Amino acid sequence: MRELQSLIESWDGLAVLSHFDKPTGAWIFICIHDNSLGSSTGGTRIATYPTPADGLRDGMRLAEGMTHKWAAVDLGFGGAKAVLAVPGPVVGQEREGLLRRYAKLVELLGGAFLTGEDMGIHPEDMEVMSKHTRFLHGFDETGKKVDPSPYTARGVLTGIKAVFAHRFGDPSVSGKRILVQGTGNVGGHLVRMLGAEGAEVLLDDIDSDRARTLADEVGGRVMNGNDPYSTPCDVFAPCAVGAVLNRETIPRLACPIVAGSANNQLAEHEDVERLRERDILYAPDYIINAGGAISFAHIGRGITDRDRLFEKVDSIGGTLSEIMTEASERGESTLAAADRRVARVLARARS
Ligand code: NAD
Repeated sequence: MRELQSLIESWDGLAVLSHFDKPTGAWIFICIHDNSLGSSTGGTRIATYPTPADGLRDGMRLAEGMTHKWAAVDLGFGGAKAVLAVPGPVVGQEREGLLRRYAKLVELLGGAFLTGEDMGIHPEDMEVMSKHTRFLHGFDETGKKVDPSPYTARGVLTGIKAVFAHRFGDPSVSGKRILVQGTGNVGGHLVRMLGAEGAEVLLDDIDSDRARTLADEVGGRVMNGNDPYSTPCDVFAPCAVGAVLNRETIPRLACPIVAGSANNQLAEHEDVERLRERDILYAPDYIINAGGAISFAHIGRGITDRDRLFEKVDSIGGTLSEIMTEASERGESTLAAADRRVARVLARARS
C-alpha cells in the first residue's frame, strides 16, 4: 500500500481513480495524465502484474506516453490510460462482470476519460463495455468497433519510408530486409503491407505457428529461435512488447534503423543515447505508432473511409521527417526532438 501511495505522490499526472473489484480481486487504475488539449484519452489494458503497484506504475507510464502521442499529433485529446490488474485469467461471466463494473466507473467520469482497447482487451470486451458507458472511442457511424491495428501498421510503414528517405534518400521498402518482432494485430498487418511492397520480411514471434503461417502467406522467413537482435537487417521493427531496447540488446543490434509499433520500446531513458552512439536511427515509438490514435480522432469527426483515414495516418511520415531533420541539425537524439515538439504543443495549449 505504501508503494501505491509513493507512486501517486511522485506522479505529475492529473489524477488516478483506483478501485478494488472484490468479486474478481482485480485492481482498477484509471490514470488521467493531462487534459490541456482535450479529453484525456487512452486504451484499457488487462494484465497480471507481480503487485498492484506494478499495474499502477504501468498505467501511469502509459498515460504519460499517451499525452506525448496526442500532443505530437495535436488533434485535441489529452493523455490517459487504464489498467485492470487481474490476479490471473478472468473469463466468462466473471470477465463480463468486471468489464461492466469498470465501464460504469468510466461513465461516472462523465467524459473526462475516453477509452478503447489495449493489450488484453478483445472486441467482445469493448461490446460489453459499450452497453454501460458512452465514453468509448473508435466506433464507426453504425456503432461498429473499428480495429485500430491496420491504421497503426500503415503508420509504421509510412514511418519506415520516411526514415529510409532521410537516411538513404529513397523511401522504397522494396528489396529491404525488415525484421518484424511480433506478428499479432499490428505486426501481422505490417508484414502483409511490407510483403506487398516487395520487402524481404523476417518474422519473429514467440507464437511460432502464427509467424510461420504468415511467413508462408507473404513469402517471408521465420526466425526459428535465432536471436532477432543480432540478425543483420535494414530495419528492426519491434511490434510486440516494450523495453526490448536496453543495455543488453542495443550492443547486439545489427541494423541502422529501429522503427516499430510497440509502446515504451526503450527500457530506460539512457537507451536512446546508446542507440545514437551506435549510429542507429530510432523512430520514437509514440510518433510512429500513432496511426490508430490518428484514425480514431478522425473517425470521431465522421471520417470512416479507409483510404481517407490512411491519408490522415500518412501525416506520420512528415512529422517524423521534421523530427529527424531537427535532431540532425541540433546533433541530438530523435527522441529529444520529438519531446521538444510535444513540449511546444503543450505549452501553447496551457498558456
Ligand atoms: P498483439 O497482442 O496482437 O500482438 C503481439 C504479438 O507479439 C503476438 O503475436 C505475441 O505472440 C508476440 N510476442 C509477445 N512477446 C513476444 C516476444 N518477446 N518476442 C516476439 N514476439 C512476441 O498486440 P498488437 O495489438 O499487435 O500490439 C503490438 C504492440 O504495438 C504493443 O506493444 C502495443 O502496445 C503496440 N501498439 C498497438 C496498437 C494497435 O493499434 N493495436 C497501437 C499502438 C501501439
